[in-house]
Amino acid sequence: MGGRHVKRIRDRWLRWCSTVGAWPASGKHDREDLKAIQRLHQDSEQRFRVLLESLPRVAVQGYDRQRRVIYWNEASARLYGYPTEVAMGRLLEDLIIPDPMRQPVVEAHRAWVEQGQAIPADELELRHRSGEPVPVFSHHVMLGEHTDNPLMFCVDIDLSDQKRAHRDLAFATRFDQLTHLPNRQAFEADLDERLDRCRRQGRSLTVLYLDIDRFAEINDAFGYAQGDQILIELTRRLRHRQRSGDLMSRVSGDEFVMAFPGVGDAEARRTVVESVRSVFDRPFEVDGIARAVTASLGLSVFPDHGRVARELIRNADVAKNRAKLDGQGSLQGFQQHYHDALVRQHRLAERLEHAIANRELSLHYQPQVSAVSGRIENLEALLRWEPTDGEAVSPAEFIPLAERSGLIERLGDWVVEEACRQQAAWRAVGVEALRIDINLSGRQVRAPETLERLEACVARHGLEPQDIGIELTENVLIEANEDVLTRLRRLYRRGVRIAIDDFGTGYSSLSYLKLFPLTTLKIDRSFVRDAPRQPEDRAIMEAAVFIGHRLGLEVVAEGVETAEQLALVREMRCDLVQGYYYHRPLPVAEVQRLLLAQLEHAP
Ligand code: C2E
Ligand code: MG
Ligand code: MG
Repeated sequence: MGGRHVKRIRDRWLRWCSTVGAWPASGKHDREDLKAIQRLHQDSEQRFRVLLESLPRVAVQGYDRQRRVIYWNEASARLYGYPTEVAMGRLLEDLIIPDPMRQPVVEAHRAWVEQGQAIPADELELRHRSGEPVPVFSHHVMLGEHTDNPLMFCVDIDLSDQKRAHRDLAFATRFDQLTHLPNRQAFEADLDERLDRCRRQGRSLTVLYLDIDRFAEINDAFGYAQGDQILIELTRRLRHRQRSGDLMSRVSGDEFVMAFPGVGDAEARRTVVESVRSVFDRPFEVDGIARAVTASLGLSVFPDHGRVARELIRNADVAKNRAKLDGQGSLQGFQQHYHDALVRQHRLAERLEHAIANRELSLHYQPQVSAVSGRIENLEALLRWEPTDGEAVSPAEFIPLAERSGLIERLGDWVVEEACRQQAAWRAVGVEALRIDINLSGRQVRAPETLERLEACVARHGLEPQDIGIELTENVLIEANEDVLTRLRRLYRRGVRIAIDDFGTGYSSLSYLKLFPLTTLKIDRSFVRDAPRQPEDRAIMEAAVFIGHRLGLEVVAEGVETAEQLALVREMRCDLVQGYYYHRPLPVAEVQRLLLAQLEHAP
């Protein structure tokens, strides 16, 4: 091999060494080369150190054969709390190894040094100077393995942030941020576990659903921050009363669910209910003012009302909704027919969707007759639903369903169209001067276009405004905003008859009557029914008729069934009578027969 060739190889070798910072194991160097190589080495070692020092999150430590610290970078000082000068020379296991890991670490190191068994990289929990655990991912590198002085370098990456993020995430998926109570999912899982235990031990368990009354009003009136304060304070009070083994969750906005293992009989149930209720004895502070808060409670019991968490929670919720109907602060235990009723309503609502398309709807007409002459003066249109696959359903049942599902607007439009069509058809066969009244529910009246559509429909069928009237219940009128009242007033001025229906069952304030654009007052059936026997009902009815007349309204007595009732409403001078005594609601053909017969006998 020629000298030039050897020199070229040596140069290339030195260049390589300078980039990786390695030192050629042997070889001859002339003085310059040696100096250059030393300089390169120093430079490269310097670069390496700078690199290690500048990685804030990579902690590097070097240990000698006895595991004494020989290198400890800034990041190590920060991560483990020992400054470099304190750490140097001390033993690995005395510094950052938690006691239970001490022996295994010493052995693993020895096995590496003596038998070459590398220590695999791993996630570890080491120890800070303060004793706090430090989660790291740790790599281990052995240098000079086969020499007298093997060095172990550990490269640790701090995992605290990741761990914290994990913990936060785990917390957020299990717990409610505001009250730190388990959320619905976590509660359900915990409850199922408790139920398994109850099943094995033959114990019962009671689930209590709690819903704060009128919480939305508190939020609206005082703001969400004050609402939150109430929720936090309520949580604190409820927690205070929990026994170990009881469970509690905030399942949504103002709803909490609790489970009481071992509570089954009536006496034990009463005790927990009393205990939960007592948290409302003291007022809650809102905006510096003491405010009374109440809650409605629903209760279900394992195993009678369900075998799994979801079922028990749902049934306690169903019972709670029943309690809400009884007024603030009520309690209801679950009963199977609550659930059956809900299922039926749900099915009905689904079938009602198709009622129009399936032509299952029709209108019946109930005549209103003159109290004096007995002649038919007016008709009330009443909606009928006969599903093709089942029995007829009462409007008292399906109208509220349609209100809730929003279907009422389509049903209502159908009713208006059908009543107008029928009215026009009767006009065509000579039945004139009769009015048809249509019932409008609250949601219909509030919908912006309903009344306009009604007017348009009346005009489209060539009818006059006074040919079709409307009936609204008292509560619909009381809850009407200025917008709705303005539209009603316009109808009134055009000559549309407007009746207040079921009068006396709502807020029952006579003074309201003058505020509304009305032509007719319909006294509720319950007064007519009870007036012959109950002097109070009779007095209210007399007052209503009197005031109605003084305000220039036409007064209709609803639900007249007997001669006795008829005599009474005549005596009170009601103008019109509606009820089974004269006529039930009738299908078109039958009403038409009546109307034509009346025409023939017209004076
Ligand atoms: P309402 O408007 O008060 O109608 C009077 C109800 O009393 C009718 O019940 C009628 O059949 C019944 N009735 C009439 N005379 C007597 C009587 O002498 N004795 C007894 N026991 N009952 C009598 P219906 O047809 O079951 O309707 C119930 C309610 O459903 C109606 O009460 C009304 O609020 C609502 N409704 C009916 N049709 C419609 C409609 O097309 N649209 C809307 N929004 N609601 C309707
Ligand atoms: Mg009515
Ligand atoms: Mg009525």
